[in-house]
Amino acid sequence: MDRKAWLAISSGLVAGAFVSVWAGTLAPWLSLGLALLCALAAALAGRRARLERAASAPKASLEQAQPAAARDILEHLAAPVLLIDASGRVVLANRAMRAVIGLDAEKKPVAAVLRTPSVLEAVERTRISGEPSSIAFTVHVPVERHYEAHVARVGNQPPLTALLLYDLTAVRRAEEARADFVANASHELRTPLAAVSGFIDTLKGHAKDDAEAREKFLEIMSVEAGRMRRLIDDLLSLTRIEQNEHVPPSGRVDLESVVRDAAAALSPLAAADNVEVSIEAPAALPAVTGQRDELIQLFQNLIHNAIKYGRRGGHVWLTLSTAAGQSRRGSGAMVTVSVKDDGEGIPREAIPRLTERFYRVDVKRSRERGGTGLGLAIVKHIVSRHQGRLTIESQPGQGSNFTVMLPAAPAEQAGTPAVTEAL
Ligand code: ADP
Repeated sequence: MDRKAWLAISSGLVAGAFVSVWAGTLAPWLSLGLALLCALAAALAGRRARLERAASAPKASLEQAQPAAARDILEHLAAPVLLIDASGRVVLANRAMRAVIGLDAEKKPVAAVLRTPSVLEAVERTRISGEPSSIAFTVHVPVERHYEAHVARVGNQPPLTALLLYDLTAVRRAEEARADFVANASHELRTPLAAVSGFIDTLKGHAKDDAEAREKFLEIMSVEAGRMRRLIDDLLSLTRIEQNEHVPPSGRVDLESVVRDAAAALSPLAAADNVEVSIEAPAALPAVTGQRDELIQLFQNLIHNAIKYGRRGGHVWLTLSTAAGQSRRGSGAMVTVSVKDDGEGIPREAIPRLTERFYRVDVKRSRERGGTGLGLAIVKHIVSRHQGRLTIESQPGQGSNFTVMLPAAPAEQAGTPAVTEAL
C-alpha cells in the first residue's frame, strides 16, 4: 500500500472519531468503516494516477527496449550477419552466421573466426577505411557452398563494421543444371544431325548412282530424323510439365481407362518384341484427381520402358489397386499402378539416378531402342504435379517394378456434374 493509502486510513480513523463524538455514542465499528472506505478510495485514486503516469511516458520504455529488439531481429534474420567493433572484436554473430563460422564467435578477434582470407581482408579494409566492399567466395567443407559477402560501416556511436552474407549455392546449382541441360540436349541433337548430314554428303557424292546404298542410307536418315523429333517432343513436354508443376490438376480421371489406352497405343511395339501385356484391376477403383493427357503420357513412358528393357518374348504386368497412403496432400486413399517386367533389371546404384534428365544405365542400348533419356524425368514431374509418389524396385536379372501412387479424388457429391477430363 502506498503513502496516500496510509494517509487516507488515518484520516478515516480521525473522521470516525469525530463522528463518534458528534453522535455522542461510542461506535468504533463506524469509525473503522469510514477509515476503510477512505483507504479504498485513496488506493483506487493512486492506481489510476500510476496508470496515467505510465501512459504519459511510453517513449522512455520503447527506447529502453530498442537495443534488445534490434538484437532479436538480427538473431532471427535468415541471412548470416556479423557485427565487429572498432577494435576488431566480434560483438554479434546471429544464428545464421553461427551456422557458418561456428558457435562461440562473440568477443573473439574477427581474424580468429573468419577463415577465408579474402573475406577477412574485406572486413579489415572497411573497418579501417569505412569504405563498403563486396566479394564472392566459396567454402569447400563440409559441403561446397557459394556466398557473396557485403561489408559496410554502420552507426557512429561507436561505429561498427557489419558483414552480411548471401548464400548463392542454390542459384549456382540451378545455373549449373541449366548449363548441363543445354550441353546434354545439344549433344543429343548433334549426334543424329551429324549422321543425317554425313549421309546427305555421301548421297550427293560417291553413292549418287548406287540405288541399293541410297535405300539403305535413306532408311538410316529416317531413323535419325525420328530420333531428333522424339527428343524435341520430349524436351517440349518436359518444359510444359515443369511450367505447370505448381498448378495441381483438377479433373477426375478413371485410371483404369488411362492405363488401358496407354497399353493399347503401345501394342504394336509389344507385338514386335513378342511381349505379352496383361492388365489387372479391381471392380470398383476410385477416380483420381488428375490431367488425363499427362497421365496417359506417364503410363506410356513406363510401359514403353518395360517393353524396351524387358525380355523379348517376355511379360509386362500392369496391376491397379487401392491403398491407404501418404501423399504431399496428407494421408488418404491412394490408387496404385504397378508396371512390372521380367527383363534385365537395373543395378541398385543406378536406381536413385534414373529420373535425372539424360541418365541411362546403358546409353548404347537406350539409343538402339529409340530412347531419349528423358522418359523417366517426364514421369517424375507428372507424378510430382499430381502430388503422388513413384517407387522403383529391381532385382538385376529378374526384372523391374515401377509403382505410381496417386491420391484418390474426393467422393463426388450428389448432383455435382462430373468434370469431363477429355475436354
Ligand atoms: P530412355 O529414353 O533411355 O528409355 P528413360 O528416362 O525412360 O530414358 O529411362 C532412363 C534409363 O532407365 C534407361 O535408359 C534405362 O537404362 C533405365 N530403365 C528405365 N526403365 C527400365 C526398365 N523397365 N528396365 C530396365 N532399365 C530401365
